[in-house]
Order: sequence, then structure tokens, then C-alpha cells
Amino acid sequence: MKERIYLDYAATTPVDPRVVERMLPFFTGTFGNPSSVHWFGQQAEAALESARETVAGALGAQPDEIVFTSCGTESDNLAIRGMAFTQREKTGAQRIITTPVEHHAVLHTVEQLVELNGFKMDLLPVDQYGMVDPEDLRHALRDDVALVSIMYANNEIGTINPMAEIGKLCRQRGVPLHSDAVQAAAHLPMNVVRDQIDLLAIGAHKFYGPKGVGALAVRKNIGLHPSQTGGGQENGRRAGTQNIPYIIGLAEALKLTVNDLEARRRQHIAKRDRLIAGVLGNVPGSRLTGHPTERLPNHASFAFERLDGNHLLMLLDAAGFACSSGSACKVGDPKPSSVLNAIGLSQAWTLGSLRVTLGESTTLDQIESFIEVLPSLVNKVRGAA
Ligand SMILES: *Cc1c(COP(=O)(O)O)cnc(C)c1O
Repeated sequence: MKERIYLDYAATTPVDPRVVERMLPFFTGTFGNPSSVHWFGQQAEAALESARETVAGALGAQPDEIVFTSCGTESDNLAIRGMAFTQREKTGAQRIITTPVEHHAVLHTVEQLVELNGFKMDLLPVDQYGMVDPEDLRHALRDDVALVSIMYANNEIGTINPMAEIGKLCRQRGVPLHSDAVQAAAHLPMNVVRDQIDLLAIGAHKFYGPKGVGALAVRKNIGLHPSQTGGGQENGRRAGTQNIPYIIGLAEALKLTVNDLEARRRQHIAKRDRLIAGVLGNVPGSRLTGHPTERLPNHASFAFERLDGNHLLMLLDAAGFACSSGSACKVGDPKPSSVLNAIGLSQAWTLGSLRVTLGESTTLDQIESFIEVLPSLVNKVRGAA
């Protein structure tokens, strides 16, 4: 069988075996309901609270500011919907500022609030790299703003936003700031105090934790309407018996990620930059999308002129390379990526996107063989058009 090379770590990562090992006892041994009064419940509660401390420490938050959820998407939903309703109740504000390059977990949530609940959406412009200019935010921060939601780092093109400046502006105006850090938390040191972020969403499966578990850091003393009502779990902010094994897994994965952050960053950047240079140097009509330096260390993304990106993905897969177009665009649905439109790429380029994201087991050899096969596959796709 030919070697299969996974280059889609921004879509998901395998669970670190050390994480699996930490999770296992909580399925059968320490299985209690953390809300129960008895010994079994207390054991589970102790593990839950210890996980909460770990996650809080990794994000620069306090333990009682951490809400465990079922995924990054749920964290985004809870933050945006919960804060929008809270703020409107408190101040009457109903404008939500966000950007056109957000993940659907953010954009579709805001769009629903507009359609069903009468909120207004303000889309900030982004520059050619997909980055927000804090000056644009400053002008948009008028009195009727309920909430700002700006992603920490972009999943599709890897660009990192100037979150500390954005946080400072929002805090000065007293407007709550949510940031989708689902990609960023895997690669950048997070600190909600340093960046003055009121709500920060993460999801475990982007950093070698299990799928189906996430967290939201919620700044103390800001109200947040729960999306999911029921019992009083998670400080009344997210009802439902906690998924203890997965929460343990998220905490362990985040701890390992933070410990390895600097070493991994250096290794990733060396390989990423070789990849970028190799692709741009060997494929005519190619360009990097996203910021050249202010980008996730494991993230390379490209656009190719006059090329069907989905066709290229299929040929790459057949050659053993698992990559992505970077957008949620499905095979057979040649819709240009809205992110590529937002950064101003012309139509000749927007259908030809390719995202290559590296992980801790990606080798330089794999990257060299990728660089070697790519040009002929691009030619093949262009020839078929
Ligand atoms: C993956 C991702 C999400 C969704 O997270 P899930 O845990 O898969 O629900 C949200 N935002 C960004 C930026 C992502 O990359």
C-alpha cells in the first residue's frame, strides 16, 4: 500500500496517545456524575475541577471562568447568542460587529440572530491578507454595539489578527469581545487577560484532543444567557451532565500543547516555509493566501490561477496526499470561497484554493515529495479544463 500523507491538521488532528491514556479511567472507573453528593460523584467532580484549573491556566483565565461545551462550534454559539441577548437586555444595543472571514460557527450564528431576533450585523473590512485593521474597528465601535466577534487566527488562510489591539479598543469602549480561537489555541500562547478578550472559544480536536468537546472562557461578572437550559452545571451557563472523559482529554491535550508550543512552533515554521517556497517556486500561476509572516506556524494556503481546486484535491488524494481547499466547499459544488472573495482575489483565482496544514508527525521528506508531485498534478488539472 502506498504511503498516505496527512496534511490537513487544520481540519482535525489524531488524539495524542497520552491523552487517550488519561481519558480511559473516566469511562469505567471514575464514572460518577459530578453533580452527585456521594463519593462517586465527588471523585468525578474533583477530576472535573482539576481539568478546569488546567484549562484556565492555559488560557490565562480563572477556573470559574471556564465553561466546558461539546465543541468549538458550541462555544462560538454560546458566546455570541448568550452575549447578544444579555447585552440587548442590559443596554438595548443590537449591533454585532464581526468579519466576513469568520468560521461558519460564528457567521451563521450572527446571521440567524439577524434573521430571527432582529439584531444587526456589521461586517468589518479585512485587508488583502484577511486581517482586521483596528482603526476600522475603532470607527465601527459606536454606542449601539452589543458584541464584537473577531477570530484569533483564520482556519482557511492562517492569518493571525492583532487581538491585543482589538481587545484594548473593545475594553475601552466597554463592548464585550468574543474571539474564535479554535485554530489559534493549537499554536499560539493564549491569554485572555493580556489580550482583554471577554469570551474565547476553543475545541479539543484541533490540538490532539478528542472530537466533541470544547471550552469557552467567559470573563467573570459578565452576564451570559445560557443557550442550553436545564440543570445548574457549569455555573448555570451550560446545562447538562459534563462529559468527564472528554473534558479530561481536552485538558490534557491543552496542557501538552502549551508545554510543546515553542518547540513545535520552530519545527513547524521551518517546514512550512520550505513548503511555501517550494510551491511558489515550482508552480506557475500560484500565490500564497493569507499573511506571509503573521500566520499560523503550521499553515500554508495557496491560490492557483485558472484551476479547479476540487479537482486538484482529488488528484492529490489519489497520489496519497490529504489536503483541503480550506473552505467548507464540498466536492461538486464549485462555489468560490467567501474568504478568498473577502481578501479581494479575482475570479480567475478564487476557485483554485489549496490548504496544506502540518502536524507534529509531518516530516521534511513528506513535504519534499509533496513539492515534487504538485506541479504535474496542477498541469493535469489545468489541461483537463
Ligand atoms: C474547527 C473550527 C471551528 C469548529 O470547531 P468544532 O470543534 O469542530 O466544532 C470553529 N472555528 C474555527 C476557526 C475552526 O477552525
